[in-house]
Amino acid sequence: MTEPNDLSAFWMPFTNNRGFKQSPRMFVSASDMHYVSTTGQKVLDATGGLWCVNAGHGRARIVEAIQHAAAKLDFAPTFQLAHPIAFEAASRLSLIMPKGLDRIFFTNSGSESVDTALKIALAYQKARGQGGRTRLIGRERGYHGVGFGGISVGGIVGNRRQFGTLLTGVDHMRHTHDLARNAFSQGQPEHGAELADDLERIVALHGAETVAAVIVEPVAGSTGVLVPPVGYLERLRAICDQHGILLIFDEVITAFGRVGAATGAERFGVTPDLITMAKGLTNAAVPMGAVAVRREVHDMIVNTAPEGIELFHGYTYSGHPLACAAAIATLDLYQEEGLFDRARSLEEAWAAGVHSMKGVRHVIDCRNFGLIGGIELEPRPDAPTKRAMEIFHRAFDEGLLIRVTGDIIALSPPLIISPDQIGEIFETLARIVAAVD
Ligand code: PLP
Repeated sequence: MTEPNDLSAFWMPFTNNRGFKQSPRMFVSASDMHYVSTTGQKVLDATGGLWCVNAGHGRARIVEAIQHAAAKLDFAPTFQLAHPIAFEAASRLSLIMPKGLDRIFFTNSGSESVDTALKIALAYQKARGQGGRTRLIGRERGYHGVGFGGISVGGIVGNRRQFGTLLTGVDHMRHTHDLARNAFSQGQPEHGAELADDLERIVALHGAETVAAVIVEPVAGSTGVLVPPVGYLERLRAICDQHGILLIFDEVITAFGRVGAATGAERFGVTPDLITMAKGLTNAAVPMGAVAVRREVHDMIVNTAPEGIELFHGYTYSGHPLACAAAIATLDLYQEEGLFDRARSLEEAWAAGVHSMKGVRHVIDCRNFGLIGGIELEPRPDAPTKRAMEIFHRAFDEGLLIRVTGDIIALSPPLIISPDQIGEIFETLARIVAAVD
């Protein structure tokens, strides 16, 4: 028998369900930098929800925009019909994308954005008479959501091993994580640009004429904050250009100010052919994702198609009115409050906080870029991930929300964080990390 407060029916995503349901931790409300838990405790959000609440919680402007949109037009299809706000949202978003990436396909999540980008890449190669280019290249430790496309190009074994053979024709470059050479780097690590040459190795193995696209996160987040080595992304771009391969940046977490600019592409000065986004696009208030596509890629598909539908792809909720209203309000807020620049200006104080963890017991690396921090812990010899999970629980109980992935603490606070709150995060964390076994 299920009761309203019974915890059994909700099968929680990416969760130790049995553990959680014995000792649940839940939020009931949020505003600005804080959540409030069911016990009434205020919890400082050092993770932007899940890398997504970039403008802080409960922002009135976004709430009102959603309320207004829901009352005016709850839903209208975007298949062979449309509504004005979808065009407005796409135009607005295109304005902050790197020059040339001004065609926008809307989705509802990061995973859908990734699948959409991979499909657009394949459709593009076919449209330009290169239909033999069907291979998709990802990277070890990459996270690209949970669709079959995303887990195929992704490189986190736990996300793949339960699900059979995945997509065929996929290969992976090596990841860039190198503690031996780069531990405790500030910002971009010095060593590892040559790892981009893995793409040359893959091209030599399979033939460039079989490769459609390469997808990487500019800064890999979910795998535990891997900042690209100096020169690495530039080299990937050059190799893709040389071989007619599309470059996709998965910017689901790096877009919208997280790295002190609208996109990682802008910040790193490397422009891909497609950018996948979600999360901060609506400040997470309504689910929405998007893919920004280089105009020539769009035109090749659309202008060479026979009369009729040009791309057989889309979601019932692509460009949903509530999501579009939330996106426009969010983009307004980012602009009016200068939040991308704010993130950039806080970067030094943030880096100092992250690196203050050096020397704390168990800490074997600290990494930072933009308002992202990664603190890697020595795993317990007999129980990897357990120490980090214990820290996660203790931090919550002391009023601090962090995220842990394996034995790495990953931090990504809302961009409205104050210098005092940065101090609070690292003081609390240092105490807790030092106190656990
Ligand atoms: N791609 C990247 C780089 C991500 O970090 C994530 C989520 O964290 C995704 C894709 C998947 O997004 P979603 O959970 O909205 O499907």
